[in-house]
Amino acid sequence: MENKKKKVPFVTKAQLEEMVKQYPTPFHLYDEKGIRENAKAVKDAFAWNKGFREYFAVKATPNPFILSLLKDYDCGCDCSSLTELMMADAVGFGGEHIMFSSNDTPAEEFAFADQLGAIINLDDFTHIDFLEQTIGKIPETISCRYNPGGVFLLSNGIMDNPGDSKYGFTHDQMIEGFRILKEKGAKYFGVHAFLASNTVTNEYYPKLARQLFELVVELKEKTGCDIRFINLSGGVGIAYSPDQTPNDIAAIGAGVKEAFEEILIPAGLADVAIYTEMGRFMLGPYGCLVTAAIHEKHTYKEYIGVDACAANLMRPAMYGAYHHITVMGKEDAPCDRKYDVVGSLCENNDKFAVDRMLPEIEKGDLLVIHDTGAHGFSMGYNYNGRLRSAEVLLKEDGSTQLIRRAETPNDYFATFDCFDILKNSKYITN
Ligand SMILES: *Cc1c(COP(=O)(O)O)cnc(C)c1O
Repeated sequence: MENKKKKVPFVTKAQLEEMVKQYPTPFHLYDEKGIRENAKAVKDAFAWNKGFREYFAVKATPNPFILSLLKDYDCGCDCSSLTELMMADAVGFGGEHIMFSSNDTPAEEFAFADQLGAIINLDDFTHIDFLEQTIGKIPETISCRYNPGGVFLLSNGIMDNPGDSKYGFTHDQMIEGFRILKEKGAKYFGVHAFLASNTVTNEYYPKLARQLFELVVELKEKTGCDIRFINLSGGVGIAYSPDQTPNDIAAIGAGVKEAFEEILIPAGLADVAIYTEMGRFMLGPYGCLVTAAIHEKHTYKEYIGVDACAANLMRPAMYGAYHHITVMGKEDAPCDRKYDVVGSLCENNDKFAVDRMLPEIEKGDLLVIHDTGAHGFSMGYNYNGRLRSAEVLLKEDGSTQLIRRAETPNDYFATFDCFDILKNSKYITN
């Protein structure tokens, strides 16, 4: 415990006490300064590659204000659904700044992506025909998602199971697919793969890059296709726990560069652009969930009840994921209490922390649940009739901006507005 590095919130207790006067807890708070510095570091890490672009994975933090910040760094958007495409379009992304990396894709979404001029990244061999039938052609620029099967192993033991995952083309389907797409009129090609999630090691992208670069050399030789970009997708992780060492994006960029120089340049592919589709790495550490302790319960265990619940942050309930918790104002107090920190859902997995050593918590204490900037708010749901919280941006000048209001009962009931049973009730206002 003594050796644990400290995780420090990006916001102070004094700042939070001001904020809660204006925004009732719980709410998700985002750190503009951190987002900007990190986006710049990503851009710098890949500056050696002329065409580099990060397509932010919108599903991680689908908020137009956040997308606008990333626009300043020439990021694009990686969308996976109709509404994500609409949001990207509304914020002013268009054409090649939108990557449509979806799977099990409905026809209307291919059509809409095509209408926006987005780059379509096909998840499956059969989608070649499906896309052609849907939009009446094969676009000039097209990308395919690769799945090598088997297991993906890194030296620190991290592994994932591409062979078990529903995504992507097999090796032979990639070759055949590129041939067919070329015959059908595609001119420019891209290759995409996402083989391991939340990797906290600088090794993931370089190793993935090597695998994709070799595939691209083979694809070029066997199909003669003009391959313009390689999309390393997401999967770059963050240090949720204080004993993890965060990824170093400069080292990651340098590792990809080394593979690029070894494999692509000698193959005459020096002009290929590197794309990324990070979500977690772009936003995860720069968001937190602010919640207040409202109850304490002493039964067979010690419980702290907070006013947030898994509907605001699903990762602990869904994956048993660790999210660090800071009790504001008690940063230096001894962590001599063992608590389960729980929400109000009628679900026994609604626990932000289990058996967590924390300072003594009193009702009214503000808790910061760290690293909720990606896959936090966005995985929210309405179980138990719980409403989604607000999202607030802590700006660089220290002021705050509401970037999404909290849901109200009106929002919850809105989808019943066409039924008499609730239409005229006092719970739906028009
Ligand atoms: C989820 C997802 C991402 C982002 O993943 P992170 O782990 O947040 O970096 C990128 N691309 C695709 C296709 C995804 O499904």
